[in-house]
Amino acid sequence: MKKRLIILGAGESGIGTALLAKQQGYDVFVSDGSLIKEHYKMELQLNKIEFEEGTHSTERILNADEVMKSPGIPEKNELIKQIRAKGIDVISEIEFAYRYKGNSKIIAITGSNGKTTTTALTYHICKTAGADCAMVGNIGFSFAKQVAVEPKELYVAEISSFQLDDIKTFRPDVAVLTNITEDHLDRYDYKFENYISSKYRVAMNQQHEDVFIYNLDDAVTVKTINNYPIKSTLAPITMSKQLPQGAYLLNAKMHLKWKSEEMQMSIEDFAIKGKHNQYNSMAAGLAAAAVDIRKEKIREALQTFESLEHRMETVATIKNVEFINDSKATNVNSTWFALESMEKPVILILGGVDKGNDYSLLTDLVKEKVKAIVCMGTENRKIHEAFGDMVPLMVNTENAKDAVQSAFHFASKGDVVLLSPACASFDLFKNYEDRGNQFKQAVKEL
Ligand code: ADP
Repeated sequence: MKKRLIILGAGESGIGTALLAKQQGYDVFVSDGSLIKEHYKMELQLNKIEFEEGTHSTERILNADEVMKSPGIPEKNELIKQIRAKGIDVISEIEFAYRYKGNSKIIAITGSNGKTTTTALTYHICKTAGADCAMVGNIGFSFAKQVAVEPKELYVAEISSFQLDDIKTFRPDVAVLTNITEDHLDRYDYKFENYISSKYRVAMNQQHEDVFIYNLDDAVTVKTINNYPIKSTLAPITMSKQLPQGAYLLNAKMHLKWKSEEMQMSIEDFAIKGKHNQYNSMAAGLAAAAVDIRKEKIREALQTFESLEHRMETVATIKNVEFINDSKATNVNSTWFALESMEKPVILILGGVDKGNDYSLLTDLVKEKVKAIVCMGTENRKIHEAFGDMVPLMVNTENAKDAVQSAFHFASKGDVVLLSPACASFDLFKNYEDRGNQFKQAVKEL
């Protein structure tokens, strides 16, 4: 009899799993409590995959042999509780895709910040070197869909902690943990240690021949790494000391040492700027070296990578004022790195939906670099409390156009206007992409 797989959630990972499962001969049923996007419905229909939307047929679901839970669905969901109570196996999309990847290799990239950038950069290096590879996860297809429609020899996968929560055998050849800062605590019983543990699951099935890349300068990682029995070969990155193996940055030079390969590269030659991107470049270079990409290619690719939209993206320079879109900075840590990399006086556009931000982390950088703050959100009180007595110019705005015009008004020649909000966007925008696009549009209209 065919194995009954129920897929909960018909987003990118749900559809990917459905396609792959159908191909592999499962009895597949997709159930989404909300409405399913038209193009996804079309894909399901074309592939003759049964689905329901706006409701869950509980009885049918509880009759499953296995359930794939989309990462957006929390454990506290009533249906999930019933599924767990019945003892039905629950897996994530990456676990499912992993079963069918064959001999292909995986570089899995997780962490609180820098995942997408490091993933895109690693992919760019592998691609530059001519590897048969795909980037999966957040950009491009889900891992499952890629395996279903266009299998590759190497997958560079961006992995969220939610995806890791329901893995069982998923074992990446190379795992990268960029850093750990508090995020998504609502999904982890408000316990930071639960979120941390979920990040380390990326390495839980790794063996000695696999590689685990982590940041020695990340306080939380260093404090917690010994609590987890990691069997893989450790490959650290740091800016504070020399290493026998790994990547380190000293006197503006990156040194990369992996097995017999050794290379040096001036950070001036990195295509993407800022301290956080130096970490991302080290992690990506090391990950590529760990899958045997040659150093000449790593060097070339780190020089030619084009920065991603909404992440420290230079939009335009108008009357000698530069505009940078870092709309993806949805927490304080990201904004810290953005400010840290600024070399000119900054007009900072800040605000939105704050997930319990501690703005004091930004105090030193704001004092040193920020001339004016333009708040862009429906609730800006905390920002005023945090910075009111150190930044002379502050103003409230409620849309991108007003924010850009106010920022331009405050700016003098040689300044930079930086949108790096430290907050989620959904009070005024659909999502961070919408916020970034409206910002760019407003800059163009100046
Ligand atoms: P993620 O996919 O983890 O959300 P991104 O690569 O999309 O990360 O970057 C999101 C934001 O986080 C960027 O706009 C940047 O300001 C910041 N950032 C990027 N890399 C790092 C890093 N290594 N450490 C801290 N912050 C970073």
